[in-house]
Amino acid sequence: MMTKIELNGFRRALENKAAEIGSGNREGLVIETSSDELDRVQNANDRDYAMSNLERTSNRLGEVRTALQRIGLGTFGICAGCEASITLKRLAAVPWTSYCIVCQEIADREQSADRSEIEVAA
Ligand SMILES: [Zn+2]
Repeated sequence: MMTKIELNGFRRALENKAAEIGSGNREGLVIETSSDELDRVQNANDRDYAMSNLERTSNRLGEVRTALQRIGLGTFGICAGCEASITLKRLAAVPWTSYCIVCQEIADREQSADRSEIEVAA
C-alpha cells in the first residue's frame, strides 16, 4: 500500500510531465523552410521525426492523464491487467504506467502482433 506522501509525489511528477508534454507539442510543430536542397531533406526528416514524436507524446499525455485519474480513483499503482501492485521502482521510472512489468510485456507483444496483422492485410 502506497503512502499519501508517495502518492502526492507521483501526482506532482505526473502533473509536471503533463505540463512538459503540453508545452513541447508546439515546439515540435515548428517547420523550418530552406532553399538549400540538403537542408530541405534534413527538414523533411526532422518533420517526420517531429510528427512521430508528436504522436508518441500525445499518446503519452493520454497515459499521464489516465494515471492522474487513477490517483483520484485510488487505483494508481495497481496493475490494470492482473491487479497486482506495480513496484515503486517501476512507478518511479514510468509513473504513467497502468501495468506491471509482466502485463506490459504481454500488451507490447499483442500490440506488435496487431501491427503485423494490419501490414499483412494491407
Ligand atoms: Zn499485471
